[in-house]
Amino acid sequence: MKLIDGKGLAHTIKEEIAVEVAAIKEKGGKIPHLAAVLVGDDPASASYVRNKVRSCDQCGFQSTLIRKDSSTTEEALLGIIEGLNEDPDIDGFIVQLPLPKHINEENVTLAIDPKKDVDGFHPTNFGRMALGLPSYLPATPFGIVQMLDRYGIETSGMHCVVVGRSNIVGTPMSILLSRKAKVGNCTVTLTHSRTRDLSAETLRADIVIAAIGIPNFIGADMVKEGAIVIDVGINRVDAPERKRGYKLVGDVDFDAVAPKCSFITPVPGGVGPMTVTSLLLNTLKSSKREIYG
Ligand code: NAD
Repeated sequence: MKLIDGKGLAHTIKEEIAVEVAAIKEKGGKIPHLAAVLVGDDPASASYVRNKVRSCDQCGFQSTLIRKDSSTTEEALLGIIEGLNEDPDIDGFIVQLPLPKHINEENVTLAIDPKKDVDGFHPTNFGRMALGLPSYLPATPFGIVQMLDRYGIETSGMHCVVVGRSNIVGTPMSILLSRKAKVGNCTVTLTHSRTRDLSAETLRADIVIAAIGIPNFIGADMVKEGAIVIDVGINRVDAPERKRGYKLVGDVDFDAVAPKCSFITPVPGGVGPMTVTSLLLNTLKSSKREIYG
């Protein structure tokens, strides 16, 4: 079994980005600038955004954090988005999800200028991705593609089973891995809560990608010997013995599943750090006008 060290890989990629940004700076070019909007006080969201800002600093990016309290109206948030769309210095921005219940996430996603949509959630980027046109790839699936690529994992002809069909992870992941591309050419099965016999599907998989949101859901009896297992889940479970009272676990029962795998990602330290790296890469692409000119 080989551990896919997302944390280490993200560190390497961030160092590569920092070298590129330093060279841009030296030539007097535009420093990439990422903005993040955080509405409300969800501790997990706050921690994700802190991480994104810290990563910007590590790479020499400029960053702007806009924090608003949970009573912020949808109208006010759309006004902030409008401002970021029009600000020529901002190359890309994200609105951290989930948003408070009274704000319609779809309206928010649609309001973001696709040219600055470095999370890759806007229908324009999603559609371009599906058609194989240049686009900002959704951050988490893009991170997974990079992981498979950098670890030299041959995906062509493999049977990949994606568990979970969300718009931000499962569905785009299934599209990317079925594309005719270096990391792609898989035969993909997209499974979800209505899948009749999930184990029968996952047991046939050369690659299992779990994006469900249920702690330790994928057990050893659901994975075949030698499979590659990518765990997207980030779940907080009580851990009274820990200082903060909780710990993070994935959707895969790591201890039970790992011995059967050829490769597996841990939680934490797997997919999560790679998601942040994707955001940085998309922002760099935006500042270099690589996708939309
Ligand atoms: P979501 O909550 O939007 O959807 C969950 C999906 O799981 C649904 O499509 C549902 O059909 C499927 N599902 C639920 N129960 C199931 C069952 N019993 N059998 C089969 N499928 C089932 O999912 P999401 O937003 O993609 O998040 C999934 C997990 O990934 C969460 O733990 C989230 O925190 C984590 N996540 C991590 C990152 C990262 O950077 N590592 C990014 C995004 C999400």
